[in-house]
Amino acid sequence: MNRPLIITIDGPAGAGKSTVAQMLAARLGLNYVDSGATYRAAALKVVKSGASPDDENAVAEAVSSAEIDFGAEGDAPAVFLDGRNVTQAIRTPEVTLAAAKVSRLPEVRKKLIALQRSLAREKGVVMEGRDIGTVVFPDAPLKIFLKADVAERARRRLKQDQEDGRASTLEQTAYEIGRRDQLDAERKISPLVPAPDAVEIDSTHLKADQVVDQILEIARERKLLESD
Ligand code: C5P
Repeated sequence: MNRPLIITIDGPAGAGKSTVAQMLAARLGLNYVDSGATYRAAALKVVKSGASPDDENAVAEAVSSAEIDFGAEGDAPAVFLDGRNVTQAIRTPEVTLAAAKVSRLPEVRKKLIALQRSLAREKGVVMEGRDIGTVVFPDAPLKIFLKADVAERARRRLKQDQEDGRASTLEQTAYEIGRRDQLDAERKISPLVPAPDAVEIDSTHLKADQVVDQILEIARERKLLESD
């Protein structure tokens, strides 16, 4: 029996991973998993517990008791923390920065990587994140590293924030993205680096559907699609 297909999409914030990964999953009939949402849910648990995201012992303790699940509320995909739908609550700037901090801890990564792997057990997935191709699924047959200029990433993130009703400025967004890039790239465990066998795609001048078409082309060339 064929193993479920796993496609990994890693890259920095704002490179277009979510849009591309969701479109790709829909085209291929695979599940879509946003691994960043697991780090955000863990960070929300820390924020709610009143601990500082910089206090390693308190973070480890708060996250160890966090129950994080993916599911749906009506037709919409949703993220749950301790049984509560936190899909919106994990998108605030406070939780965003806390996620980049708590994700540096080995205990936190260990727990969330186990959760991420369990989500691909039954059905194939397109999973996006920072270390999906390097650490979570090092044997995945198709790994994409999606990048884009920081100015373009800030523009996209600002547009998304405005559509979701979060006020910000281009300057603030560019600053926050730069800060997160640095935290993600410089951390000791699972830093943001392309897997040696990842295909790098620069999306600065590409639309999401053009990126998806490129990935589908590679999948076809590698004979990963069922119709081949
Ligand atoms: O992808 P998103 O921006 O929602 O991720 C939030 C934070 O979670 C990132 O800044 C990063 O620090 C962390 N993360 C991670 N590994 C992943 C996905 C996200 O460390 N696979």
